Formats: sequence, structure tokens, C-alpha cells
Amino acid sequence: MLNIVLIHKTNDFFDALISEKILVGTIVTPNPKIADGVRKRLPSQGAVDAITISKFIKNELTALGDQEVLERYKGKSELILILGAIWKKIGRNNIVDFKRAFNLLTEFRSFSISDQVLETVLEHYDEELRSGVLWLHRFLAQLELIDEHQSYFYLSEKLRAGDLLPSYETQRNIVFYGFEFMTASQVDLIKSLALREDVVIPFYKEVYESSEAIDWIRWFDDHNTKIVDLGEPIQFLNKRKLFRFSKNYMGRVLEQEVGEEEKVLVLAEKNITRESIQELPFTDLKFKSEIDLFNEDFLSLISEVDSWLVTGPQAIAKIEEKLKHHLDYLIEFKKFREIKCGLLLSDKLQQWQGLAEENNQLDVFSFEIIKESVSLDLPRVNLATLSSSASNEVISIQDIEFIKEKNVVFAMNSNHGSLKGSGAQYTENVEKYLSSIGPLRRAELESELLKSKFKEFLTDNNVDLYVENHLLEHDVSISRLFSFLELENTSVFLKDPIRKQYNLLVKEDFSLSRLSASRLQKYKECPQKYYLQYLAKLSPQIDFKDEINVLERGQIEHKILELYLKQNSEYDEQKHHDVIHHVLAKYLKQKKVTSQKDILVELKAYTTSAIQSLIRLKQNYGLYFHFEYDFDVQEEGIQYLGSVDLFAESDEHQFIIDFKRSNRIFTSFISILNYDQIQLWFYYQRLNKLNKIVPTKKIWLGYMDLSNLENSMFFTDDFEQAKSFKQDVFVAKVKALDEMQEFLSTYKEQEENLVQALRRDKEFPPRPLDKEACQFCTLKNICPREAL
Ligand code: SF4
Repeated sequence: MLNIVLIHKTNDFFDALISEKILVGTIVTPNPKIADGVRKRLPSQGAVDAITISKFIKNELTALGDQEVLERYKGKSELILILGAIWKKIGRNNIVDFKRAFNLLTEFRSFSISDQVLETVLEHYDEELRSGVLWLHRFLAQLELIDEHQSYFYLSEKLRAGDLLPSYETQRNIVFYGFEFMTASQVDLIKSLALREDVVIPFYKEVYESSEAIDWIRWFDDHNTKIVDLGEPIQFLNKRKLFRFSKNYMGRVLEQEVGEEEKVLVLAEKNITRESIQELPFTDLKFKSEIDLFNEDFLSLISEVDSWLVTGPQAIAKIEEKLKHHLDYLIEFKKFREIKCGLLLSDKLQQWQGLAEENNQLDVFSFEIIKESVSLDLPRVNLATLSSSASNEVISIQDIEFIKEKNVVFAMNSNHGSLKGSGAQYTENVEKYLSSIGPLRRAELESELLKSKFKEFLTDNNVDLYVENHLLEHDVSISRLFSFLELENTSVFLKDPIRKQYNLLVKEDFSLSRLSASRLQKYKECPQKYYLQYLAKLSPQIDFKDEINVLERGQIEHKILELYLKQNSEYDEQKHHDVIHHVLAKYLKQKKVTSQKDILVELKAYTTSAIQSLIRLKQNYGLYFHFEYDFDVQEEGIQYLGSVDLFAESDEHQFIIDFKRSNRIFTSFISILNYDQIQLWFYYQRLNKLNKIVPTKKIWLGYMDLSNLENSMFFTDDFEQAKSFKQDVFVAKVKALDEMQEFLSTYKEQEENLVQALRRDKEFPPRPLDKEACQFCTLKNICPREAL
């Protein structure tokens, strides 16, 4: 029997467990972190254990005597390698296409492993992708490999058929605890288990009542499911004080306001990072944060191997030889983490070679597959404080259900990232079809679950709430979290803002005649920065004749994208290679650069995926590309000048895209929606002024991060395409805005005010927009900003 136990707070479940009102043998959790939290709440003497779902599946397969199935089971890193080799064998060598096909395959197999289901859902995708996913799926079957989802379905079938060993234990009490989402394969497994076992799923009652038919928790509603009510509704104090602080002042505000007593600090981010710990003004801290200990060493090794491939594909035997020498060097200098990466890479190279005869050459595609597989196998570690005596503990908002009867400081700032749940991103037809087969992930359900945990947390603890100004107004996920509270806002001001004398920069005869996006941005970031850079014309950067500087690297990369895409409509590694050399040669004429090795590696890395993605963008939307689209507009006596990296248009769409070499200026949607970053809005205004913007066409504004396309960020009013953009074009963050026109006209007003202020100004004080403005300011070494 399956019991969905509706609780008001998690204590309802743990109390029932302790009083044996609910009998429990095993508690199965989605991940080790929740298993740890559950163990802490279990009675120390009890026989109940908490294990993760992957451990549970392995135990079940062993108990069913299916050693052979366990041997055929392949984890993600092995599957990528095997399927990557097959992809190459069938003549495909585009890594972005492979990743898209592999990810879709994994997603769809979580609904069903039937050929028919897969073929039907793939009818909604382009032919190239459709055939790619089907190839991978069929090869999995032919090679008789079992992935995670197939192992769930296999277990379900076996349990339903009743073909069990006499030693297989039944009538157990199994609890599935802490799941925010279950795939169709997991739901199916639980239904099969419930035929013989007593299965319990504790779930918040109010979230259950607001859930929808597509949500996983509703997929159990059949004759073998009992809905049980447990506990009493929470008596809740709605009125709460909310302490608000200015952006970037969280540390100083907490230092001033929070007392010495022992406390728990809850940070509103999904995972505690070292950076967020460093922001806290306390030393006596206990915490656990995930760190990618091998990341830097892995990247360093990869960059070395990349440089061996700049002249084109190489024999793997030759690469292994070079890797062996490199490992000797790493051993000599005791670079242990990079040695670990190197040994893993060496293993993978051998495995890759063993998978197909043609795999004796290492090209870009093969190396990307191997890299992906190695990175999945690198150890994941947590950084934890060794001392348990520290009096303050730092905990992520994800784990608030495990905090009981404590003094808590809850702090939230814009660096903590969004709390938005992760919903399924499919087109309407795909969503409709998949929702007839299994549950769909819905961000709103995850937000509701977090809200219920938050409510319980506020009831069970003595909590002070500190939230950065404007976050509640600008982030829907945050306002939803606080929606059940009646908040009394109190602004916190610093009692000792440090002020010193400084010489104010003044230019009495200043008159504004020209503006560009970067000039206006500089003025917005800090009037003094504008003065130093454009009026005093100071440039503290040193330009070395034998080095290609960051600015030039950006220009070269833009030129490579432009030239390649003007000449080609498909990706071809050799042609790409030729364009890089051609563009670089022009720049090198002006410089005495001795080694091209590093720059070649970087140019290739920064432009390969961008070219492939832009080709897809062009094809999918039928766009015409204008690179370096210049404008020169006169508005009220000011000359507005600039150049859009890429303006693309079709009968239905228009894209304004800026290429960046990192995502430093656009780490969150908020910075753009707040107009802290104005470039895209500025471009839109000028193209609009030139009548290049057609109001009936859908508008897309976006930054492309060439160093990592996944960081790219787009805004659009095209709700329909926004869903499939990630799927069909490239993995960017996309925000569809209901109020796009409103944002555009508000920007217009704000820009007018800013320009008026600049026009009037004769004084240019150091008035940075925020701390980051100083941190990344090229003039910080000559600026008396400590006077602030
Ligand atoms: S360092 Fe800060 S205060 Fe100084 S010019 Fe740059 S942004 Fe302004």
C-alpha cells in the first residue's frame, strides 16, 4: 500500500515515527545531504536508516539477484564516452549537437524507454536532432546497456511480474522523504514497490492541495494509495519585522546589528559557497560548502592539451606520449591535483581508443567528449570547518527544515542568486504529450515546497530577517517566498559611514556633445570614473608591444565570428582554423608577439561553440545577420555613436546581441532589469530612433558570453520561442518578459534623466554605483576612493 502522509510540518512525520504511529524500516532520500539531515532527526538508538535512492536501487538489484544487470549498468560518464564514440562513428562530429541529443535522450528516457514514445515526442524536434536522439537510444538497446532510468523501469517490471527470489524481503516499511520531484520512472518504481511493501511519502498538506495534475505527487492517485492526514495546522505569527539594507552592505550591516550570542546564519542561496562565507563579518563559523577542488587544475591541464591540438587532430599515441612527459613535470613540482586529473585523462584516452578503430586520432570532438567524461569522474568534495566548537553555524536556505529552536539570522542579498525552482522547458506540444506519460517538473510546485519549509522554519525558530533593498520587488521567486507574511519594513543605516576629505574633480567648461553606451555606463557607474577616463583622458593600462591585450583579443574574436559566418552556413573545423589564422595574422603585423600558442588556443575555445550556436540561431529563425552594425544619431544636440556587435532580423524577429568575454557585468537578470547595465537598452533606443525596430516583430536583447555560452543571457517578449530557445539554439538563460515594452519605456525615461544629469554636471565626485564598480574599475589605482 502507498500512503501519502499529509503533514503541516516535518515534525509531524518525525514525531509519528518516534511514537511508532508510522512504522519505518528504511528512509530513502534524493541525495546524501538530505539523508544526513534525516539521520540527525532520527532517534539515536533506533534501527531506522536513511539511504539515497541510488544506494536503494543498487541494494534492490542485489537482493533480486541481478548481478548481471548491475554489470550492464553504466553511469553518466561512461555513457557519454560510449555514445560519443558511436556519434563519431556515424559521421557526426559536432559536440554541441551531441550534448543536446544526449541531454534530450536522458530526459525522455526518464518518461519511458519505449521506442514508440520516443519517436512520437521527437516528431516535434528538427530532423537532425530527432535522428541523433533515436540513434543513441537504439544503440543503448543494441549494446544492452542500462542507464539510470532503465534500472528503475527494470525493477518495476520485475516487481510487478512477481519473479522474486525466496530471500527477497517483502512487507517492509519504506519512506521516500525530501523529494521535490520524481521522474515517471521513479513514480513507476514506487507504485510497483507498494504492491508488497508499506510505502510512505510525507508531503506538505497545503502544497498537496495546491498541486496540479501534472505534478509528480498527483501521479499516485489510484486504488492502491491512501491519503492520510497527520498533525495540526501551524499557529503562525504573520506580522514580521524585515530589516532592509543597501546593496553590497550586508556584511557591514550584520556586523553592526547582530549580537555576540550563539546563532545560526541562514543564507538565501541554494548552496553555501566560499564567497558567501567570506562576506560574513564573523570568524567563529561552522559551515559545509561544496567546492570543485579539481576545477582549476583540470582547466590548467586541459589548456595544455588544447595547445597540442592547435595545429589540428593528433594521433592519440602522440598525445599519450606528451601527457606522460607532462605528468613527469607535474610529479617533479608536486602538483598532486593536476596529476590526478592527468591520470584520469590518460585512462579515458585508452578507453576512448578501445571503443572504435577510428578513435586513434584526437580531434576537437573526441577531446570534448573525453573532457566531459573526466570532469564527471573527478571527486566532488565539501569544505567543512573541522572544529565543531564554533558557536555560529551557516546553513543554506535549502536545509532550513533541519533547524529547530535556534536564534537565527536570515540574510538575503542579490549575490545569492534566484530561488526559482526548476521547471520543465518544453514547447506546448511536447509538454502536452509528455504530461500524458509522466509528471512534469514545475517550478511553482518547488517554490511552494520551499515556502512551506520557510513557514515551518519561522515558526520553530527565533528569526531576524535581513533582506537587501529592492529584492522583494524585483524577484518573483523571493516575493513568493514572503507572500504569506505581513512585513514591517525597517531600513538599517550604518552608524559610522567613513568620510574623509578629498579633492573634488571639477570641469567648469564641460559641455556634452557625444555619447556612447560605454560613456553613459561609466558615468552611471561613477561620475569620477567618467571624468578620469573621458575628460582627463587617463588610461592607467600598460600596452605591451609583444602581447595581445584583452581588448584586442575581444576584437579578434568578434572578427573571427563575423568573417566565418559571412562565408559559411555550416560548421567546419578546418575552415574555422583558417579564419582564425587569417584574422590573427592581420593583428600580429602590428605587434611583435613571439608565441601564438596561448592566443590560438583561446581564440578557438572562445569562438567554436559561438559559431555553432549562431549558425543554429540563423537557421532556426531565418535571420539575416548584420555584424558591427554602426549607428550615428543626433538627439537634442548630442551625437549618439556606437556599434552593435550583431543585429539580426527576419520577418518575425529582431535580435540585438553583444558579445562578451565573460559574464562579469551580467551575472543576474536583475542588474539588467534594474538598468545597472544599460548597453542593450541603449542600443535598442538608438536602433528604434533610426526606425530599425519594427514593433510587430518579436524583440530579443542578449549578451553572449564567449568564454561559456551557458552564461549567456537573453530577454524577449516572445513567450512562444523563449521556451524552445534553450532546446533549439543554445544553452542561454532566457527571460520572457510580459512587460517588455514597459521596461523599454522606463529605460527611455531613466536614460533621459541620466543624460540631463551629465549635461548639467560640472563636478564629478567619486560616487560608485556599488562596490563592484570600484572592484573592477580600471582607474582604481589612481582614484582616492578610500575617501568615500
Ligand atoms: S575606483 Fe570607484 S570611486 Fe574611483 S573612479 Fe573607479 S568607480 Fe569611481
